[in-house]
Amino acid sequence: SFHMFVPMAPDRQQLGRHTWTLLHTQSVYYPEKPTDEEKQDMNTFLHVLAKVYPCKVCGADLQYLLEQYPPQLDSRNDFAYYMCVIHNKVNQQLNKPSFDCSLDSIYKRWRRDYTDDRHDIQEPNLDE
Ligand code: FAD
Repeated sequence: SFHMFVPMAPDRQQLGRHTWTLLHTQSVYYPEKPTDEEKQDMNTFLHVLAKVYPCKVCGADLQYLLEQYPPQLDSRNDFAYYMCVIHNKVNQQLNKPSFDCSLDSIYKRWRRDYTDDRHDIQEPNLDE
């Protein structure tokens, strides 16, 4: 009826928010001790995402950032911090406020099982 919610096709901002959700979520659930293959796959994912991203200027920007700042994929903490720093580079270009990249703030924002006094993993992934 008239009052039903009509979903709108995403614009650049909404696509951006959802893409950041995917990227940060991938980083905070990344293995603590990734195998070489897991590191390679994530590195490939990031580079391919930058190439195929439907906002062309955004993708080009990400490609440039990946070259300037090679992905840090040796551990979950490394990758979570790296993704935060990259997002802040984009925030800066868009005159948006910087996010606090302490691991506490990152995990608090992006992990469902985060508590202040307990950093160990309750949900190893988002399958449940
Ligand atoms: P977003 O930047 O989308 O952030 C979403 C949420 O993430 C925030 O509300 C906050 O809770 C959290 N957050 C913010 N910063 C960080 C951080 N550093 N670490 C962890 N969490 C954080 N838009 C353009 O107009 N031009 C571009 O060139 C452009 N390039 C982009 C490149 C990429 C790779 C991506 C993914 C997006 C790009 N965008 C670009 C979109 C832009 O970054 C925003 O997504 C969009 O403007 C919506 O912004 P927002 O204020 O809702 O918050």
